[in-house]
Amino acid sequence: MDLYSGHINKLIEELSALPGIGSKSAQRMAFYLINLPKERVQRFTNTILNAKENVRYCKKCFTLTDQDLCPICSNPKRDQNTIMVVESTRDLAAYEKTGKYEGVYHVLHGAISPMIGIGPNDIKLKELMQRLQEDIEEVIIATNSSLEGETTAMYISKLIKPTGIKVTRIASGVPVGGDLEYIDEVTLLRALEGRTEI
Ligand code: ZN
Repeated sequence: MDLYSGHINKLIEELSALPGIGSKSAQRMAFYLINLPKERVQRFTNTILNAKENVRYCKKCFTLTDQDLCPICSNPKRDQNTIMVVESTRDLAAYEKTGKYEGVYHVLHGAISPMIGIGPNDIKLKELMQRLQEDIEEVIIATNSSLEGETTAMYISKLIKPTGIKVTRIASGVPVGGDLEYIDEVTLLRALEGRTEI
């Protein structure tokens, strides 16, 4: 890295801090950016800043959106009485890609993990319980099949059980420890269709 000037090193360092970007890709990206016309770089940085400033959580399901309510929550054609609970907006996107799920979502933004000190209050669980005051028929728990995902699923099911609302868990056709977003659509659909009451 000493080959390059301080500015380039700094840029490579920032880029390699992005998820999934190794130092080689970071170098390639850095040189690409430096060679772009200034206006392009300006447009790119503005896009990042605008996204950062305008993207917020949907008031209902807590997915990332730039409206008060996300397009799914505000769509009258979606079944607002069925809530699928997922860990992240990326998981929501994975299920949306199947095009077969007609209910709405609730994004927890994490999973319970006593090992790293993430408790029920650190995810959007209170917010989920508040939504259950409405007329909800089913809560489908689609957290990952990792230890954290399973712990979270059990915890949520215990919380919801006393309300009498039906709680289901997606089938474990999903590989253990598998991140939902990397699983193909057919497997996701099978997991959804094969969900069982817990
Ligand atoms: Zn929403």
